Formats: sequence, C-alpha cells, structure tokens
Amino acid sequence: MLPVIYSDDFLLHKTGMLHPERPERLTAIVNALKAAPWAAQIEWQLPTPVSGHEQKLLSEIKKVHALGYIREVEHLAHRGGGYLDGDTPISAESYDVAMLAVSAWLDGVDRVWDTGSPAFVLARPPGHHAEKDRGMGFCLFSNAAIAAYYALKKPGIKKVAILDWDVHHGNGTQDLVENNAQIAYCSLHQSPCYPGTGYGDEFGSHNNVLNIPMSPGSTMGLYKPAFEGYIMPFLQQFQPDLLIVSAGYDANADDPLASIALQPEDYGVFTEYCLQLTSKIVFGLEGGYDLPSLSESVVATLEKCL
Ligand SMILES: [Zn+2]
Repeated sequence: MLPVIYSDDFLLHKTGMLHPERPERLTAIVNALKAAPWAAQIEWQLPTPVSGHEQKLLSEIKKVHALGYIREVEHLAHRGGGYLDGDTPISAESYDVAMLAVSAWLDGVDRVWDTGSPAFVLARPPGHHAEKDRGMGFCLFSNAAIAAYYALKKPGIKKVAILDWDVHHGNGTQDLVENNAQIAYCSLHQSPCYPGTGYGDEFGSHNNVLNIPMSPGSTMGLYKPAFEGYIMPFLQQFQPDLLIVSAGYDANADDPLASIALQPEDYGVFTEYCLQLTSKIVFGLEGGYDLPSLSESVVATLEKCL
C-alpha cells in the first residue's frame, strides 16, 4: 500500500477567483488517483489533526519561522483574511489549513521512517518560497524545511536531503537549511524566472546546496543529464537517511506559470532516480497549475513507487 496523506480540509484555504494556487488542484489530483488502475493500492491517510497538537506543531514551525510571522499569519486569517504579499492571499481558514499542511508533512516523515517506503503528502498551501519572517509566492509555512528539521530529531536520522523539482527555486527552503550541515538542498528550476534566486554558484555553508538553473524551453533532453551528471552524484555523496521531495509539477509544458517543456511521464523518471537512491522518500506537493498535467504527473510519480 502507498500512503497518500490528504484531507478535504486542504480545500478550505481560499485564494480567490482566478488564482492559480486553488483548491481545484487537489480535487483534480484526488480524482485522477481514484481513477488509476492501481487505485486500490492507495492508502488514504488523514493528517494528524491540529487540535490537541497545536503546541507541538508550533514548536516545530518555530524552528524555522519567527514567532512574529507565525502570529501575523494567524491574526490576518482570523480577522477574515488578506494578503501576505501581492501573490499570496489568505482566507479566514488559511492559518488552520497551513498548520494542518505542516502536520501532514510531519506525518509523512513519521510514516516513511516507520515503514521504509515512500509516502505522498497531498496538501496545500505549498511552502518552498516561505522565508523565516515572510510568506510569499503562494507559500505560508516552509513545509519541507520544517519536515527536515523534524526528521533530524529521530534516532537514526543524521542527514536529510531535500530535492526540489518545482519549476521555481525554493528560495525559502534554501535560506532556512543552507547553514545546517545535516541538511542538503538541491533544486532544478527555470532561470530566469520567479523568484530570481538560486544561482549555480551558491553552495551553502557546508557544500550542502546545489542549484541547477534550467533555460526556458528545456525538455527531458536537458533534465536527464542534469539529474545524471549533477543531482544524483550530489545526493549519492551526501548519503541522506531520508529524502524529502518538494514535488512541484509546474515544469510541465502545459503549465501557465513557467516555460519549461516537461511531460507528465518525465516525473516518473525523476521518481525512478530518487528510488535508486533510497526508498525512504517523502514526496510533498508544491506547485503545478495546469490541472490535467498536474494530476497526470502525480499519477506518474506514485505509479513508480508501487
Ligand atoms: Zn512553482
């Protein structure tokens, strides 16, 4: 069985009409997974509820975010919503949903470490742009970085790698982990593109960062050598005990927010690369805004894990 950690409550984070990061993204993925020929092999797992675990979650979030920022998100949401930045509207439920998303990513870490096999965290809002003291780029809390620090508390986990294949650079994730020798961050992302970070000459404080900027129009013909020549050797040398994938699917050719030209099945190939490294993989959803290619790509990812 392949766990997919999901709750309908993730649909309650409302971003308004015409915003690309919308609840329908998850609905499309859920429908595609339920229609897959191997749908019976999915174990739908609800995330641990926030209620009753709020202090524990807050203590994990506070490891990467300033308390003042966490309170800002809480107050803005509970006053009815507003904007964290021009791209990042939140609604009344968004703080609670973002907390639940963090809970789901932590559940993903627990599940993968307990079983030794992959899990997919199907949550929103995404997280990789969120910085220590500000939300941006549709992101509220840095799910992947929070999950990485949480994983390091487990006996037996000494090193965690984050692979970010979202088409945008995870500026927040890199910033939050690059000074920690126990966490590696590597990203393939379109350049130039939002948010304008992630240069190839950034290596982190411990040679623990690898950025591979990709030119607009890149296809698998360029991604494959990037994986085989750079990403895989970097991850193999780091030897992580756990791999977290910031799984964004906006590098698809049909995606409206970027200009990379991958096909959904290419994400199955990326997944095979990851599985060559370890079976202990937490996949967590980041971007991906064209609903058909987004859902086909998640299907391609999970299919390889079965
Ligand atoms: Zn993205």
